[in-house]
Amino acid sequence: MGLTNTSTGAGVLSHCGLHIEKETEQDKIVALAGNPNVGKSTVFNGLTGLNQHTGNWPGKTVVNAQGTYRHQDTNFIMVDIPGTYSLMANSTEEEIARDFICFGEADAVVVVADATCLERNLNLVLQTMEITDRVVLCVNLMDEAAKKKIRIDLPRLASLLGIPVVGASARAGKGLDRLMDTVGGLTGSAATLNPLRVEYGEEIEAAIALVESEITDVLQGRINTRWAALKLLDGDDSLLGSLEHYLGFDPTQNTEISQVIAQARYLLEEAGIPADQFRDQVVTRIVKTCEVISRDVVTFEKKEYVARDHRIDQILTSRLTGIPIMIALLFLIFWITITGANVPSSLLAAGLFSLEEPISQFFLWLSAPDWLRAIVVDGVFRTLAWVISVMLPPMAIFFPLFTLLEDLGYLPRVAFNLDNFFRKAHAHGKQALTMCMGFGCNACGVIGCRIIDSPRERLIAILTNNFVPCNGRFPTLIAIITMFFAGTVGGAFQSVVSTLMLTGTIVLGVAMTLFISSLLSKTILKGMPSSFHLELPPYRRPQVGKVIVRSILDRTIFVLGRAVMVAAPAGIVIWILANIHVGDFSILAHCAGFLDPFAKLLGLDGYILMAFILGFPANETVVPIIIMSYMATGKLTDLESMSELHMLFVNHGWTWLTAVCTMLFSLMHWPCGTTCLTIRNETQSLKWTLVSFAIPTITGMAICILVANTVRMLGLV
Ligand code: GDP
Repeated sequence: MGLTNTSTGAGVLSHCGLHIEKETEQDKIVALAGNPNVGKSTVFNGLTGLNQHTGNWPGKTVVNAQGTYRHQDTNFIMVDIPGTYSLMANSTEEEIARDFICFGEADAVVVVADATCLERNLNLVLQTMEITDRVVLCVNLMDEAAKKKIRIDLPRLASLLGIPVVGASARAGKGLDRLMDTVGGLTGSAATLNPLRVEYGEEIEAAIALVESEITDVLQGRINTRWAALKLLDGDDSLLGSLEHYLGFDPTQNTEISQVIAQARYLLEEAGIPADQFRDQVVTRIVKTCEVISRDVVTFEKKEYVARDHRIDQILTSRLTGIPIMIALLFLIFWITITGANVPSSLLAAGLFSLEEPISQFFLWLSAPDWLRAIVVDGVFRTLAWVISVMLPPMAIFFPLFTLLEDLGYLPRVAFNLDNFFRKAHAHGKQALTMCMGFGCNACGVIGCRIIDSPRERLIAILTNNFVPCNGRFPTLIAIITMFFAGTVGGAFQSVVSTLMLTGTIVLGVAMTLFISSLLSKTILKGMPSSFHLELPPYRRPQVGKVIVRSILDRTIFVLGRAVMVAAPAGIVIWILANIHVGDFSILAHCAGFLDPFAKLLGLDGYILMAFILGFPANETVVPIIIMSYMATGKLTDLESMSELHMLFVNHGWTWLTAVCTMLFSLMHWPCGTTCLTIRNETQSLKWTLVSFAIPTITGMAICILVANTVRMLGLV
């Protein structure tokens, strides 16, 4: 079966939604492609100005922008196709981009590339050139490349690729005129072009030739036959669907074609290229070609920097030293935080509590009723004083250090080191990156999972993101350690022991992420990991201003602000709950009493479990709520130093086991309210939101029960 009668002509394309309306026959259609973030929109806006309109691609939620510009008496209709790294149809965007280039009947395709990382961008250029000859490469961000001392030999690039190449700095409007001239020249001439073809090696080339000879007549030049043959050999289902959809051509219905494909695949298998390795081989060849071209045309004038980065990476990401260095760095940061926070915490506590008496006096002077003084001073002020003294110093030390590592470019190395483990768990290597984002905020980590194309792997990453503690939970962990272990173990090793505990907790979080990912991959989300290239960006000199602003303003003040904002009103509520009695006990004691038996099973107590429940809107508030509850129910002594705060906890029955279980439960319990909402938005499914709620909660409870009861049984507390 060939092309059906109805399949030819613009009528079908119009019906399918890829057809672009022209005002006159002379109008030219230009598709604008490129990787994300290469300045494609800037080029599009620079050329089309206000003559734009946007909509959605038919049947998809992806934006479709079109605009026109006039150049030398011709109207050009520019179609901005989705920004993608490849045309392998791994995602909806890639599918749309491929379909438009393939079936959209464009007169030319402009691929915008980033001059500062040309090699990676060439991948899309080569893939586009496989589908159509009429490609213009616009190497944008030439100004950035010049700043980074990267030189690109554009004429040489044009001759190697066999297509016109134009350099541009689109933000400054430079190079756009030349781009228009070049596109005009290409669309105005009927000259045959001879773009570079990626060589796939003898066996694959022979297979392509075999299939190509069979489909040439059938396709009647509607699409590039070499490329179609490649995709048919690959068994690309998405393209089969599009061929049927846009051309009414279903190769699987054609016995001769099916036989030839089967024969070619058999020959490939014989030659040692089984079907499941075919695509890998093809991708590897394309990547190699990009590398060879890039090596030829790109010169890094600051060679020593590239070499330096490479040397550093050999140590920081090697199999042998990568992970130990990572854990050592984590340990170092925690150690500095814990030892550094002790003294300022005590000083802050002493300073703030010395204000308690004057404030009380002030209320006496006002002749205010005693209950008002009690609410403000015993309820709100004391709580705030503790929140600030316990949480501010560790955050003010930890966040700048962490941001420093982030700014240096270390986090992608962490992802690189963990990549292998994620693959082994049948999850996506990029999940390590989303996990790093989760260290900042789990809601951001969940949104970050969009970088994972495969829905299965994305869901795994979303469901397990909560196993790394966010900005809100880090201070909780550090506060408990500072209060409970840093000052009690004694001797020179106390800080080391505390630090080891915190490092261990984080490592446990990562291990749980991997374990649960692997479990999901083997049960409800079965599948194999997909491959990808992880890019290691260059190391950067940290920008001190940015580090300070991001760590102090965006993180420390933000987290403390949230804790204070919730803690102050919660202080009032809890003080009231603790002072209104029903029968012999306060309401607070009733609630805690109700939860107590189950909480004890987890190694916690009713107040702690209630603090976690009340902390659902924001994790930062868990420790403040615990402190508040204890102060409201205990004998109100003057708690003027950290050791007295420790005593408050001990008087409420805390042992080291309670501290450990609270830390474990903080690491593994339900995601906070914001994260739950984000998961609901990202998955569009209540079911998966509930699953993401249940997984860490059940895991945390199980581990707490195990730890608490084992320790109790062994008589260690
Ligand atoms: P898109 O994702 O490919 O559409 O990229 P955008 O057009 O949104 O551009 C991404 C960023 O690069 C924006 O901040 C632009 O202002 C910036 N940008 C675009 N072109 C240039 C350029 O030629 N030079 C420089 N320095 N920045 C550019």
